[in-house]
Amino acid sequence: MRYIKASKRIDLLKDAANENGWSIDVIGQTKNGLDLFVFRNKPGEQTDICAWSLMHGNEPTGFNALLYFMQQPGIARSWSIFPIVNPNGADSFERFNADSIDINRDARNLNSLEALSLSNWVLKEMPSLALNLHDQRSCFYPKGKNVPASFSLLAPKGNRDYETSSQSIAINCCSWMANELKVDYPEGVGKFDDSFYPSAFGEYFQESNIPTITLETGIGLNDWARAGVSKSLGELLFSLDKNFQSALSCKLKSYQKLPKNVNNAQDWICITSSGPYEIRIIESVKDQKHSRFWKVIGPGELDKKYWFSSELISTSVKLTPGQILDDDLVRFLGGTAINDVDIFNFSN
Ligand SMILES: [Zn+2]
Repeated sequence: MRYIKASKRIDLLKDAANENGWSIDVIGQTKNGLDLFVFRNKPGEQTDICAWSLMHGNEPTGFNALLYFMQQPGIARSWSIFPIVNPNGADSFERFNADSIDINRDARNLNSLEALSLSNWVLKEMPSLALNLHDQRSCFYPKGKNVPASFSLLAPKGNRDYETSSQSIAINCCSWMANELKVDYPEGVGKFDDSFYPSAFGEYFQESNIPTITLETGIGLNDWARAGVSKSLGELLFSLDKNFQSALSCKLKSYQKLPKNVNNAQDWICITSSGPYEIRIIESVKDQKHSRFWKVIGPGELDKKYWFSSELISTSVKLTPGQILDDDLVRFLGGTAINDVDIFNFSN
């Protein structure tokens, strides 16, 4: 499910919590009074793992995975989960919060109440591992591979100049994750840009001596709505729960060997007599209704990666940047209409 109202997401979380014995706590509120919920499976015990999602409101895959995880019986470790960090952004399917703040750049300034609650919560829990769950755009792919990065792993730097002990533990765990993910995604796992962004939460918690991983989920070529990726992430969390100590001490170096992400793949290149065009799938939420459509971006670049291509060189057709294509025009251009095949499958 790519989009549902934030209130509906909270109902689903509460149902899962009540059915599976998770506690429900409000740890803060947004400026406009929306509650920020944390769920714990073993309240009162030292927390092993903190995990959060929907810090960026248009990145729901981590939420779907956490909900799936909360529904599983037999969880061994002590988890504390903050599935909707940015309820206003989740409601409007926007990256930023209601004050246009990027919460993931607000770890030091704490200008947003959401960042303040996230920071206070994690520093109070002092977990053995923190998981920062995000989505990434379809333009990302592991360098040298011909598939999108369905998963990107990052053990953020805790210091600009040297590897902190928390980063070392995060690297171990990323190596364990890379090995697990490669079973189902032999090509589609990359290493995220590990530049030092001190204002981001990953770096901030890493510096605060909490091993932290930023995990970015992307599309699969047959999974544009990320339903399969979200289930795989949920299963990865369940496996992490069962193999926690070995994950934290994994010495396989698989993370270091992952190809780095490149970010210039195009969704669809349509070659016409007036040149190649880049056309992209756009998701949009208006009045709490989710839609998706193909939109012309501008001239396409044939020497860069693309996931679909079509050729229409005999007919003269002029496309305009910003133009939204209806299904008939998409088919005329040799493209795949979003409702024609289940690889897009945005409804579930
Ligand atoms: Zn994000």
